[in-house]
Amino acid sequence: MLKLNHLDYYRLPWNLTDNIINWLEPTSKCNLYCEGCYRLNEKDGHKTMEQVREDLDVFQKFRISDGVSIAGGDPLIHPDVIEIVRDVKKRGLKPIINTNGLALTKELLAELKKAGVFGFTFHIDSKQGRPQWKNKNEIELNELRLHYAEMLAEAGNISCAFNSTVYEDTMKYIPEITKWAHKHIDIVHVMVFILYRAVNNRDVDYYLGSKKIDMGELVYNEDPETRTDIKAPEIIELIRTEYPDFEPCAYLNGSEKLDSFKWLLAGRLGTKQKIYGYMGRKGIEAVQMFNHLIYNRYLAYATPKDARKGKLMLLMGAFDKSLRKTFFKFYKNPLNIFRRLYYQSVMIIQPVDITEDGRQNMCDGCPDMTVWNGQLVWSCRMEEQLKYGHNVKTYPKNFMN
Ligand code: SF4
Repeated sequence: MLKLNHLDYYRLPWNLTDNIINWLEPTSKCNLYCEGCYRLNEKDGHKTMEQVREDLDVFQKFRISDGVSIAGGDPLIHPDVIEIVRDVKKRGLKPIINTNGLALTKELLAELKKAGVFGFTFHIDSKQGRPQWKNKNEIELNELRLHYAEMLAEAGNISCAFNSTVYEDTMKYIPEITKWAHKHIDIVHVMVFILYRAVNNRDVDYYLGSKKIDMGELVYNEDPETRTDIKAPEIIELIRTEYPDFEPCAYLNGSEKLDSFKWLLAGRLGTKQKIYGYMGRKGIEAVQMFNHLIYNRYLAYATPKDARKGKLMLLMGAFDKSLRKTFFKFYKNPLNIFRRLYYQSVMIIQPVDITEDGRQNMCDGCPDMTVWNGQLVWSCRMEEQLKYGHNVKTYPKNFMN
């Protein structure tokens, strides 16, 4: 398997008190049941507007951030979703809706835009049991992805991102999805691959204090037949079958395994026909640092307008080798002076995984912290808080006997 050295890339500066986003859960209710979901779908899962505001206060009490992922459950089925977006915007934060898209209509989109929505992250993959899309593979689902991307493009100036959970049997589609995202680089700003999560792992025992826990009681069960050890370099290797030069620029490491990649980011520059090159480690460092210097926060999402300014980004080639290379490749054809160069992010996220010695490897500097009992907790482990009041610990099988 491809080996990547984390020290070759820029370590994203995000940490627990100064991060790009927060993870707001106004509801745990959802209109779909996705296989990879971390949250129990609760019928009465909506929070009141007052509770939502309290959660937002907690975020602002503990950390600086650029935006809020309004997630869930599916936030679009919350009756106050427009008010929530308005409130987030009023606080000077970017409201990003994380949704399966099912409840999104043109009318609702227009209302959300008026309320100040900054962007959408659509979670679309083939294990969601979508009505009318059952038994469709990831490639066939590109038609649905395009539907949402075009809807946002038509509404104007709304950031468009897609999430897709990657399973052992859907990994093979990654090169094609990456190609599809390239083909729509003008309207798709971010493509995220989330690796299927390895919780309820068969190699470890789960404990709360000295009490052994049956993780089967929680929603995030593991299919014993499915691989749970897919890692980011394997995904890079797959993408390189289509884009041999594909190269990440930045990462977040694991809390337990320091050389592991939990968030691995690549930024590519191109037209709909051709990718000319990639953001390098110095370029992405400059983007994060300048943003912090000027706006006092790290950058979560670029505006669609900025994503169209790839040519301007090439100026950072003065100190970024990779962008310098991209500059020469792009301007080799002088006619490109008249062409637009787009920027698109490709992110690979590996949620909690278990190290060989049985520890739970989390994202070091987790962007997706949410609120539980007035405190910030990892959103991917919310069910443990709700059921046990704590995060459970893991040990190698029979270690505690
Ligand atoms: S630690 Fe969990 S909640 Fe935080 S970014 Fe990683 S997967 Fe998401």
